[in-house]
Amino acid sequence: MVADWRAERLLIDGNLQPAANKRTYPNVSPSSGRTIGVAADASPADIDRAIGAARSAFDNSSWSTDSRFRVKCIRQLHDALTAHVAELTELTIAEVGATRSACGSIQVVSPMAFLPYYADLAESYEWTTPLGEADTLGGRASRWIERVPVGVVAAITPWNVPNQINLAKIIPALAAGCTVVLKPAPQTPWTGLALGRLIAEHTDIPAGVVNIVTCSDPAAGAILTADPRIDMISFTGSTNTGKKVMRAAAENITKVFLELGGKSALIAIDDLIDFSEVAATAVFGTATVCGQGCALTTRLLLPRSRYNEAVEAIAGMMQHTPPGDPDDPSTMLGPLISAAQLDRVERHVASARADGARIVCGGRRPGSPSGGFFYEQTLIADVDNRMAVAREEIFGPVLVAIPYDDDNDAVSIANDSPYGLSGAVFGDDESRALEVARRIRTGTMSVNGGVWYGPDVPFGGFKHSGVGREMGRAGFEEHLESKAFAKPV
Ligand code: NAD
Repeated sequence: MVADWRAERLLIDGNLQPAANKRTYPNVSPSSGRTIGVAADASPADIDRAIGAARSAFDNSSWSTDSRFRVKCIRQLHDALTAHVAELTELTIAEVGATRSACGSIQVVSPMAFLPYYADLAESYEWTTPLGEADTLGGRASRWIERVPVGVVAAITPWNVPNQINLAKIIPALAAGCTVVLKPAPQTPWTGLALGRLIAEHTDIPAGVVNIVTCSDPAAGAILTADPRIDMISFTGSTNTGKKVMRAAAENITKVFLELGGKSALIAIDDLIDFSEVAATAVFGTATVCGQGCALTTRLLLPRSRYNEAVEAIAGMMQHTPPGDPDDPSTMLGPLISAAQLDRVERHVASARADGARIVCGGRRPGSPSGGFFYEQTLIADVDNRMAVAREEIFGPVLVAIPYDDDNDAVSIANDSPYGLSGAVFGDDESRALEVARRIRTGTMSVNGGVWYGPDVPFGGFKHSGVGREMGRAGFEEHLESKAFAKPV
C-alpha cells in the first residue's frame, strides 16, 4: 500500500503528474544506503509552470478573499492527514531514516496540530481593524486597516523534519490566503509529494493553490527565489543557503522569511543536586533526530567546579542510545540522512581531536547495523568555545562540553556564537535559572526542561539563525500585509 505513495509525481495546477520528459532521480534509504525508489525530478519548465499556477490561483480566484472556504479546506486536510498517519510514518522512516518513536511525535504526529490551530485562528482573526475618525491632511476621515495575504509564497524546506517544516510553511500561508509553491529538499521528496496527494485527492483546495515540485538539483530553489512572480520566500535551511536566498530576493525586493542554523547552548547551573535531568535532556533530545535538528542544545556549558561529574553523567546516559534500525520501536538513535552528512560529522570529530579536545564516548561509526549512515552518539569534552566544533553546526549526534566559571561566564559563552536559535538552562534555584535564561539572545528558551514547542509558539532566531518567526500568531502574520483605508466623513 505504501509503495503507492512512493510515486514519481509532482503537484502542479491541481494535477498529480510526472516531471517533463518523465525525469526521475533515486531516493536513497539512510538505513541501508540503497536506492529504495525514485522521485519526480522537476525541470526548470516544471517549476515555471508551478509558479504560473500559483500566481494565477492567487490573482484569479476567490482563495485570497474567502477565509471561510480556506478554513474548511484546512480542516479537510487535517482529516486526511490524520487518516493517513500510518502511510506518512512509513514514508518518513524510509526516506528520512526517522525513528518510529520520533514519528509518533515531531516527525509526523505533532505537526498535525498546526492545522486545527490555524483553522481556528483564521476563523477568529480580526481581518479588519477600525481606527475610528480623525482630522487628516484632507479633512475628516474614517480609517481602518485590512489584513491581506502577501501573495504567492515560495516555500523551500530541508530534509531533517520534512513533515514538520512543510506543514509549518504551507498551513499558515494557506490560512492567510496565500498560494504556495513548495520545494522540498532533494533527499525527502516522498513526504512532500504525500502532502500534495492528500491535498489533491482529499480536499477542495483549488487547482494551483498548492504546487509541489521535487527535484534532484538543490539549486532549483534558486529559480524560485529569482522569479518576480513570487511575493515571499519562506526558507528553512542552512545559513549559507539563507544568505544566497536573501541576495537573490534583493533583486525583486521579495519579502524573505528565514529559519536558519543553530548551535544552541544548554547551561547547567552549579546549584543542581545532580546532572541526571541535564544528561537526559541533552542525550535523548539530540538522539530523537540523530542530532539533525536546528534547535538542539548541542553546546553543553558545565560548571568548572563540577565539570567531571557532569561529563560522566552525560557519557553514562549515552550508553542508552546505541544506533539501531529506525523501524524498531525501541530505537532512539537512527541513521544520519546521507553519506555526505556522515562525512561531515566525521570531519568535525577529527577537527576536534586535532584541536586537542577529548572524545569521551562515541566518535566512530558502529559495527552494526551496517550499510546505512549510522554514527555513535558522541561526547567531546574539554572544548574551547573558539574551536570549530563549538562554533559550527555539526548536524549529527555530537555534543560538546565546555567548562565555565560563573553565571556571567556561562552567559557570555552562550552568546558568543554566530547563531541565536534556542537554548536551555537547568538550575535548582528557578529564579536564578530564569535570570540566566533571559540574558541569552535566542528565539526560544527552555527552563528546567520546559518544552516550548507547539503550534501556538513562535519559532525563529536572532543573528545568523534567521529573520522572522514561524508558527504561532506571529507565523501567521508573516504572511499578511497591512492595508490602510480612509474615506471622508
Ligand atoms: P540547505 O541549506 O542545504 O538546503 C535547504 C533547502 O534549500 C533545500 O530544499 C535545498 O534544495 C534548497 N537550496 C539549496 N540551494 C539553494 C539556493 N541557492 N537557492 C534556493 N534554495 C536552495 O540545508 P539542508 O542541508 O537541507 O538542511 C540542514 C540545514 O537546515 C541546517 O543548517 C539546519 O540548521 C537548517 N534547519 C533550520 C531550521 C530552522 O527552523 N531554523 C529547521 C531545520 C533545519
